[in-house]
Amino acid sequence: MVKLDAMENPYLLPQDLRDEIARLVADAAINRYPDAGAQQLKEDIRRVSKLPPGMDVLLGNGSDEIIQLLALAVAKPGAVLLSVEPSFVMYRMIASFVGMRYVGVPLDEDFSLDPKAMLDAIRREQPALVFLAYPNNPTGNLFDAAAIKRIIAAAPGLVVVDEAYYAFARDSFIPHLAKYDNLLVMRTFSKLGMAGLRLGFLAGPAAWLSQLEKLRLPYNVGVLPQLVAARLLQHHDVLLAQAERIKQERARLLAALNAIVGIRTYSSEANFILFRVAKATQIFEGLKQRGVLIKSLSGGHPALADCLRVTVGSPEEDARFIAALQDTINQLA
Ligand SMILES: *Cc1c(COP(=O)(O)O)cnc(C)c1O
Repeated sequence: MVKLDAMENPYLLPQDLRDEIARLVADAAINRYPDAGAQQLKEDIRRVSKLPPGMDVLLGNGSDEIIQLLALAVAKPGAVLLSVEPSFVMYRMIASFVGMRYVGVPLDEDFSLDPKAMLDAIRREQPALVFLAYPNNPTGNLFDAAAIKRIIAAAPGLVVVDEAYYAFARDSFIPHLAKYDNLLVMRTFSKLGMAGLRLGFLAGPAAWLSQLEKLRLPYNVGVLPQLVAARLLQHHDVLLAQAERIKQERARLLAALNAIVGIRTYSSEANFILFRVAKATQIFEGLKQRGVLIKSLSGGHPALADCLRVTVGSPEEDARFIAALQDTINQLA
């Protein structure tokens, strides 16, 4: 299968870096518990993420774990977790796992934020926690930064800007961290080529993170992920160069999709593209029969009727996807 369903980086690391990692792993003290404070790794994260002074870092076993930890921290009967719809499904799922009430504010027709609806919902619901994916998954767009700032200012609780796709996007809220006392920025290295390592982090004021640390299980990031991720972050430029290739390939893939009659694409700041096409479910199945796996969003949220999401792969993978898509559409016509 050509696997284009989960926003994974299609590229392997350069051979010399893989050899370096093999040596690190061979010498790793896996008989010992990991450094619970993960000092080295946090320093590397601070540096590559250019965190403003005074900001702290909390590590998670993927950023999914951090969403859960944040929800656990504020959960009590009646507490609200607010996000937008359609967005990352884990916000709603984790809210229900921890017994919070989930409120999803609909996005506009073009998947932009509706600031008035958001501010009304914040006033009405007084959410303990707001999640905004920036860029948003599964739509791929960046929301209006000024609207997000108004939301942060109006929110009575924490606002988490989820930057899972930061490596592919034009903008970030990390430089704004020091300006708001209720803003946290969450990132993951999954989409940058480390999905299998499971490493995400939350950045924000030490006052918040020291409280959240109390809920983190001490050994949530193992010896090997700490070692390997720290080494890879020392070669962050290699990973960012791969992200740059993926961004260039994203433009080619977008043009190829736009050249197919009957497809409506949505522009993306992430490493995937959302598109709408008639008979989306049959097209998804036709692609699968032809050895290409993407993500079907049809049948989920009503705003995503007939929508499919494809991860930007290597040029060869994307060419196979486009050929299989064209073939499926021709056959269904
Ligand atoms: C992929 C993704 C995550 C979670 O990634 P992890 O692999 O758990 O670090 C979080 N938020 C968004 C918006 C995502 O797309």
